[in-house]
Amino acid sequence: MPNIATTLSAARRLHAGRTALRHADRDMTYAELDDAVRSFASALLASGLSPGDRVAVFAKNCPEYVITMYGAFAAGMVIVPVNAKLAGPELAVILEDSETRLLVHDAASAVLVDEVAGPDLATLGIGPAFDRFLAVGSPDQQVADLGEDSVAWLFYTSGTTGRPKGAMLTHRNLTAMMWLELADVCDYRAEDVVLHVTPLSHGGGLYLLGAVARGATNLIHSGSSFVAGDVLRLIEREGVTVIAFLAPTMIVMLLDADAETGADTASLRRAVYGGAPMHLDHARRMVDRFGGVFVQIYGQGESPMTITYLDLARGPVDDDRLISAGVPHPGVEVAVFDAEDRPVTVGTTGEICVRGDTVMRGYLGNPTATAAALRNGWLHTGDVGRYDEHGRLTLLDRSKDVIISGGTNIYPREVEDALLLHPGVRQVVVFGEPDDVWGESVTAAVVREAAADVAADELIAWCRTLIAGFKKPKRVVFVEELPSNAYGKVLRREVRDRLAADSTGHQRDGRLPGLSVRRTS
Ligand code: AMP
Repeated sequence: MPNIATTLSAARRLHAGRTALRHADRDMTYAELDDAVRSFASALLASGLSPGDRVAVFAKNCPEYVITMYGAFAAGMVIVPVNAKLAGPELAVILEDSETRLLVHDAASAVLVDEVAGPDLATLGIGPAFDRFLAVGSPDQQVADLGEDSVAWLFYTSGTTGRPKGAMLTHRNLTAMMWLELADVCDYRAEDVVLHVTPLSHGGGLYLLGAVARGATNLIHSGSSFVAGDVLRLIEREGVTVIAFLAPTMIVMLLDADAETGADTASLRRAVYGGAPMHLDHARRMVDRFGGVFVQIYGQGESPMTITYLDLARGPVDDDRLISAGVPHPGVEVAVFDAEDRPVTVGTTGEICVRGDTVMRGYLGNPTATAAALRNGWLHTGDVGRYDEHGRLTLLDRSKDVIISGGTNIYPREVEDALLLHPGVRQVVVFGEPDDVWGESVTAAVVREAAADVAADELIAWCRTLIAGFKKPKRVVFVEELPSNAYGKVLRREVRDRLAADSTGHQRDGRLPGLSVRRTS
């Protein structure tokens, strides 16, 4: 089976002198990157590690991150990218679960790594130690031949509850993902300047694959915080042509900062977004400002970045299309099943299930979870959605987020969409709270627009004009901000759990622990 690292060797043959990576004021050509990757692979093997061993990386985005990733591929080892924002105990769980042998980390995480590293774990700090390690290796190292279904990447799910699970992504999965990315999402070219602004442990890292294969210049942003004005200015200064991945909240931040920054973004020809729902009014603003530059992707760690896509450069940009997640990639089978795994009819809601070469091999060391996720040969995504008559898939929610009130399913997203249409509402998250009579009742946590003084009863009445009465929130809580994870996804369950603590009397003034509340109704 081809090793995904051979795409870098091929790019080097074609584009040796072109810039592969740009980070801060440092550039690396394809020849330099390929030499470093082979040296790293050779040093890994010389250090006593064997093909199949796990190499974790816990660092902000930087060139060494990319060298570690491709170096592990080239050596036939498995990369375990860990979100650099995780706390010590969370890192420890992943290191233990993955049986990681070597942990590569940056200086910022050195203290934390010291605390969690056990005697069996070797660590390598990015900086002088990393450079010495590289110097031991040889740039003549051959890229490893692989067996069938060799694992390349352990993708730890970003779930906010339960023990994280490591989705085993094989070289075949990554190759299939890369093909579909190049075909449907972005036809990267050597002339492209590709901005990676999200953590390489997630979308940014996966989108390196196509960009590297085509010899593009990859602008590696540290990915530790997202300052919209800086990103807009960077696009102008560097002539960025592609943004590898953005969470919807980041796009809203870019739109908000746009007028004040006044940056010229005309160089941009493609930008990818997804990973979380984008509400209609935000999508409208995005299209009005950027036209058809954007393409949405719907995927999950278990089928990396690749289930459906929505290319806004092609086809009409009507509301139904904008709120959908687009159409399946060719060769990826996407079905909607009922609770007994039977396909439902067009327009009927069910669980989205996926089959194809992008689907993971399973969860490492967790046959029970693997059997549940891959039952009957289909990946069960846990996402709820439906097809429309044009073959487009619309996502409603995670099945776990559905609110069941009086025996009726209520999809939080429908209520959120209604609230977001109100001019006084900036951001919202809707969730269910226990209710003695109805089982669950609908609650909305709302961030208001700066100057807006809209009241809870006004918002509830507003919803009534747009959605059925049983769906309208019973309770509206105003907050200053909503928590989001490192990838910009609003943490619905975290808001819900904090509010639950609130109603048990822990916070008698109605404040959400960790969230500042303006007014409660
Ligand atoms: P992760 O495995 O962390 O990438 O999270 C994947 C989950 O994010 C999916 O199962 C969906 O629930 C959600 N998601 C991903 N892409 C989209 C999208 N385009 N629209 C709505 N939700 C999405």
